[in-house]
Amino acid sequence: MLDEQPPSPTPAPRVSFVSLGCPKALVDSERIVTRLRAEGYELSRGHAGADVVVVNTCGFLDSAKAESLEAISAALNENGKVVVTGCMGAEPEQIRERFPNVLAITGPQAYESVLAAVRQVAPAPHAPFLDLVPSPGVKLTPRHYAYLKISEGCDNSCSFCIIPKLRGPLVSRPAADVLREAEKLARAGVKELLVISQDTSAYGRDLRYAESAFHDRGVRARFLDLSRELGGLGVWVRLHYVYPYPHVDEVIELMADGKILPYLDIPFQHAAPAVLRAMKRPANEEKTLERIKSWRRACPDLALRSTFIVGFPGETEADFAYLLDWLEEAEIDRAGAFKYEPVKGARANDLGLPLVPEEVKAERWARFMERQQAISARLLRRKIGKRLAVIIDEPGGGPLNRPAKGRSKADAPRIDGAVHVASRRPLRAGDMVSVKIERADAYDLHSAAV
Ligand code: SF4
Repeated sequence: MLDEQPPSPTPAPRVSFVSLGCPKALVDSERIVTRLRAEGYELSRGHAGADVVVVNTCGFLDSAKAESLEAISAALNENGKVVVTGCMGAEPEQIRERFPNVLAITGPQAYESVLAAVRQVAPAPHAPFLDLVPSPGVKLTPRHYAYLKISEGCDNSCSFCIIPKLRGPLVSRPAADVLREAEKLARAGVKELLVISQDTSAYGRDLRYAESAFHDRGVRARFLDLSRELGGLGVWVRLHYVYPYPHVDEVIELMADGKILPYLDIPFQHAAPAVLRAMKRPANEEKTLERIKSWRRACPDLALRSTFIVGFPGETEADFAYLLDWLEEAEIDRAGAFKYEPVKGARANDLGLPLVPEEVKAERWARFMERQQAISARLLRRKIGKRLAVIIDEPGGGPLNRPAKGRSKADAPRIDGAVHVASRRPLRAGDMVSVKIERADAYDLHSAAV
């Protein structure tokens, strides 16, 4: 008699994954996780019991580095088999020095090296089922929204930033490549695409805006053309990390026509001309306020989100007061502020400008946040009584007996405020509802489904 027992299946190796840092790093994590799943690995909920831990680090600010080092230390204590990747991996010495037991260290976007390191520690099952990858990939973000990375690297040389050193010059993805991914995401049920890169408005410059074939037509690798095509997919399209170059005006028209969301995330970082010059910011012209006003004339619903640095070397009290006045006049809807940190290797450290004492930085940061909170509250109050479209992130309503939590077109996930929605019928994550705004606080809106 033949022994026809099927071979007992080998248990899939388990990977515990820690993703730190910005949305761009999250996209890298998603790619690595997708590949691992495709090869038959399973994700583990915790470090204990995992065959290997991957830590995707962030090395942008010293505080982010500290968080990354802590995550590595926790992974070593709880598991012991640790692979480090991400921005901090670009400078392996500081990790090796502190954690000589780390198994491998790779830099940002080094997907293949991370996979190779994982395979070495915990070899993949012999015959992975390719259909382990849920289309279009394993997402660390909720299914109803997804980040869409259109380029890597950056050609600018902002004096406080080492990202170009870590990630290299601008490398754009061909338009057709981006659009195919976007289309797959939309087909898989994603309702909101968040377009990200280091400098979204510079998209395609390195490719000389070359055309690539998408369906039956050629699409140029241009910010406007890509935005227009994305706007035709029938999902919300939100633009992040845009600089106020003149060609951004054309995209405002797409927003006014309802093709893409009337939302721009522009990291202005400052407003005072002397500070902007020292920061060496791209598209830094003094007419930005006028540009913002003309954008709002063309698209009155436009929401602006931004980040600012307070306490940059050489920032005087007059520069800071200028920034606060500018903020007031520009009516930036959503703004975050960071206290300047002298990142190792950044040219700002060698400008010979006087450093702003820590207590002054802290005091300016508090004044900034207070002013911004008042502006945000004022702008949100104007929305009371209006009807807005909202996408639900956290379920509520119906038998759940609590409001659902969602976002309007003016709010990006994870960084902006929320719209709380009271509803008699249950609302699930990803639902799109029309709501009437009933009240507002400093950052959030409260509404009822209509
Ligand atoms: S635009 Fe400036 S801050 Fe942004 S990544 Fe490039 S150099 Fe850094």
